[in-house]
Order: sequence, then C-alpha cells, then structure tokens
Amino acid sequence: MSLCSQLCWSAERDTSSLLRDYIRLDTTNPPGNEALGAAFFAEIFAAHGIEHEIIKVAPGRANIWARLPGGEQPVLLLLHHMDVVPANPARWQHAPLAGLNDGDYLHGRGALDSKSLGIFQLQAMLALKALGKPLNRDLIFLATADEEAGGQYGVGWLMEHRPELFQGIGAVLNEGGRGDVRGGKITFGIEVTQKLPLWLKINASGEPGHGAIPRSDSASQRLIRTLAKLEQFAFPAQLLPGVKTYLNKLAGDFPPPWNERLSNVEALIESPQQMAELREFDHRLHAQLRSTCAITRLQASDKINVVAAEAWAEIDCRLLPNHKPQQALESIKAALDDESLKITPLLSFEPGISAQDNFLFRGIKHSLAERYPAATIVPRMAAGFTDSHFFREIGIPAYGFIPVILDAEQARGIHGDNEKISLANLNFGREFMQRLVEQVCIAESGR
Ligand SMILES: [Zn+2]
Repeated sequence: MSLCSQLCWSAERDTSSLLRDYIRLDTTNPPGNEALGAAFFAEIFAAHGIEHEIIKVAPGRANIWARLPGGEQPVLLLLHHMDVVPANPARWQHAPLAGLNDGDYLHGRGALDSKSLGIFQLQAMLALKALGKPLNRDLIFLATADEEAGGQYGVGWLMEHRPELFQGIGAVLNEGGRGDVRGGKITFGIEVTQKLPLWLKINASGEPGHGAIPRSDSASQRLIRTLAKLEQFAFPAQLLPGVKTYLNKLAGDFPPPWNERLSNVEALIESPQQMAELREFDHRLHAQLRSTCAITRLQASDKINVVAAEAWAEIDCRLLPNHKPQQALESIKAALDDESLKITPLLSFEPGISAQDNFLFRGIKHSLAERYPAATIVPRMAAGFTDSHFFREIGIPAYGFIPVILDAEQARGIHGDNEKISLANLNFGREFMQRLVEQVCIAESGR
C-alpha cells in the first residue's frame, strides 16, 4: 500500500483514494478484523511522525489511538468506528468492498458509516500537523472496533482497561448527526442525545408433544398471544423540549397537513389518531415522540411435527432519554399480564444528554453557519445508539456529526444496500473537518 505523501490531504482525489483503500479492508463485523484498519492508520501516522498506539484486544480485534500534543484546554477527541455491518453482494449494484468510484460517487460498505468520518478526521489531523502552529489543546484520534455489535472490543473495552486514555477530554466528535436535504432545503442535525435501548427476551413454556395431536396451550401459542398483546401496546407519546425545537424548525419543509401538525406538536401527541397517521407518514418522526418496541427475533420448534416445550422472542425497545428502563419494563409486564412468562433484559443503558454550551458544539454550529448561512442547524436525538453513550454516561460530552449532506436515497444506504458517498460530500467533509479542527485547536483563533 502506498504511503501518504506531503500532498496526501490536499485534494478531493486523495480523500477518495484513502477512503477507497479503507473500504477495501474487510472489517465486516462479525468477525470485525479491525486490526487491518488499525495497521492502515498506523502506517500513515508513522509516515507523518505522529505519536500513536495500536491497542490489541483479541485476535484480529484492535483499536488505534493517536495524538497531537497541545496546551491546557480540554482535549478534543475525534472518534469513529472501523467495523462495518455485513453487506449482501447479490443486492448491491457494485461489489460492497471494492470501493468503486463511478465519477459521482464512491461506492462501498462504510462509505458513510463511518469510514468516511475516519478519513475526514485523519486528514484534519494531518493538515493540522502540517500547519506546524502551537495548539491550545491536545487533539486525539481514536478509531475503534466493534461499534456495530455494541462496543465490547472497542470503546467499552478501552474505558474499562485503559481509562487514562480518556482523561481531560472536553468533547468527543463522533457519528450520529449529518445534513439532510429535503425539497432543496438543508437541515443539519447535531446529535446530542439518543434513545436508550432496552433489549428484552421473552420466554414462554408449555407441554411439548407431537404436531399431530396438539393441545390448546403450547409454548408457541402462549408466545403468539403475548406478542399480539405487545403489538396492541404503545408507550404514551411524549414531547421532549429538544424534539419540540427540532420538529418546529422542520415543520415548514413538510406538505399539509404535516406542516401545521408539526408546528403544534403538543396537539399532535394528544391525538392517538394523528400519532397513528404520523407513523404511516414518517416512522422516523414518530419514533422521536415515544418509546417504542419492535419484535425482531422469534424461535420455537426446529421441526415441523414437534410442539416445542419452549418458545422465545427478542424485543428491541428504544426509550426516550428521560424514560427509566425499570419503569418501561414494569409497563410492558403489566400490558402482557402473564406471570408464567420469563422476561429478561439483555441490554440497557443509562440516559445521557450532551450540553449545547460546549466548545465543540459551538464550533460545529459556527463552521456550518459560515459555509451554509441559509441552512437550519438543530440539536437532535438519534433513534439508534452509537458509542457516544459510553462517554455521556461518564459525563464526557459527545456530539454526533458526520459532515455530509444526504438526500433520502443516499441515507437509505446506511446499514442498507448500495451505500455510497458523493464526491461533493467527500470535498465538503474534508474541508469542514479541517476548518473545524483548526478553529477549535489553534490558539490564535481564540476560544
Ligand atoms: Zn456507525
């Protein structure tokens, strides 16, 4: 693999070739193999004389940390994850790990989530080093393993085994928010909080037997009745202050009656009819207004003529950030109303919200407003979760923002088929990240 030359970060072409090489490293999780990514970055840091360390966690699993030293101001941490979710080549236009550039787009798994972010952060760090000016704070780059599977080999491991790496950090820049274009209007969402996963396993049991002579009350039947109740159950709709601001600012971009309804969200959440219509109209917006549960896994007998003694389902609930997991669990148990079921939490996080009064949040807003004065910039809540929750839980502010502007089709590529990034976004992302990091880390710009 060729090394970065001094001009490595100076042109869009080079962002594109760096990202292409990164996409070609197969870091599909499972199994991850993020050690490939760590070696890729280590080679570049070594060539540029930047202090770095590969942190091996398990065979094939590694994280990499790098640092530019600076003054006493709170440290800025640039974070992204090296692993990607699997892709089914049969459903893709181009091979998912080929990094094909068709002139308008660079195609590949990770093009948006989140290898492009890693390349933007890398180039910003190299550019800052090349400037040679004194920094007012340390700048840390951290590329991690295992985000897509929960971070056990990544941020979760590092926080437990290498807590010193996170001392003095004043802000984390991670994935989570971005620019969206709808009807020609751009909205930038900076993610400051996320819904909390509460993953549950429900086990039902009953007498096993032969499929030819069924009873009326098998494990499968109990489970199906339980899930039917869960389908009828909904947590109450609720309007958080940040979500209200977010929806009010977006309202004007929507056609009637949604422009009116989203300007008056208090009335919307009071109407079960309108909430049901909102779920049909835009299930993403609906998920901003209530805690939800999705039935995602089911299993009973593995033979057609055998009535199983046990049947189970896994349920992916996502709670609004002020919803206590224990309270949500009690509501679900009350709705299912069956003492014989075993309900086990598999995963649950504590809430965390990052303040908007932070040097990084202000820096992102300022840099965006400079470049896109007509765009709307809003703090937002993500429906999914990222590694940011680890930081928020221990009081380190984390902000989710990938500097790209996507239309609905491009956004569908994230965890979907045909993930790709436009060359225009590669330019924007590189320039934005470089400008942001300079602004936040260079003493003369004051801050
Ligand atoms: Zn991601």
